[in-house]
Amino acid sequence: MVLFKREKITPAVSRIRSTPDVCMYLVEGNERAALIDTGNGVGDLKGYVEELLMGKPYDVIVTHGHVDHASGADQFDRVYMSELDYELSLSHCTVEHRKSSFSYWREMFPGTMPEFEEEDFIPVRTRPYLPLSDGQEFDLGGITLRMIHTPGHTQGIMVVLDVEERIAFFGDACGVQVLMLAQETTTIEMYQKSLKRLRSFADQYDRVLRNHGTCESPCSVLDDNIEVCEKILTGTDDAVPASFEDVKCIRAMETDPKSRKRVDGKEGNILYLPEKIR
Ligand SMILES: [Zn+2]
Repeated sequence: MVLFKREKITPAVSRIRSTPDVCMYLVEGNERAALIDTGNGVGDLKGYVEELLMGKPYDVIVTHGHVDHASGADQFDRVYMSELDYELSLSHCTVEHRKSSFSYWREMFPGTMPEFEEEDFIPVRTRPYLPLSDGQEFDLGGITLRMIHTPGHTQGIMVVLDVEERIAFFGDACGVQVLMLAQETTTIEMYQKSLKRLRSFADQYDRVLRNHGTCESPCSVLDDNIEVCEKILTGTDDAVPASFEDVKCIRAMETDPKSRKRVDGKEGNILYLPEKIR
């Protein structure tokens, strides 16, 4: 069973695709490396990464505490994540939650993911993470990774900036379908403030990478989502009734049912709960 597949993005950055529709990033400097996110916690990600790194020391950065980003964290010793997401990760990354989210996927997209044995599941990490905060830097030797705290999708979520290569790893923080659907999300009003702050770094990157779907967006996705927030706040979005994994919600901007892209051609979009706007 092949669970991990590497795609070279730049000489230093690799995307590691996993199942279902999730990826991690491996950034290699001259002296150290960093794994950004740990996926769904099925299979031996650590073994796969260490084979690629051939002995180079590395740290693990978990952008936020969700099931498809933090579930593989227990395999690794040095794992950084914002303290604001510690508790969330404990409840979100349980093996039970993974199994139920996998069965949802198998139902929605038959044949796209394998069945797993019990021993394929990495247990949820209950030992401590190392703290991760805004402005924190990782010097990998020739490559610097800088954290930009961007609360919205979760309270502790980080955008990671690869300073020298001018790449911003937006992850789930800002994309084509930002999920603002749960207890751990901020209001749309606060999220818009976060995005406006993120825009103050816009002159420091030329490329935006994400962890799902196409895994990349034009830089305009940020301005699109700031505009979508404004539309939600002023009640001028398309407000299409939608659902995500059985959660009834609102899709801010209308999408084409086949391509799932915005009908007006713009990139950013948000799924939200009407009671969490302000
Ligand atoms: Zn997430």
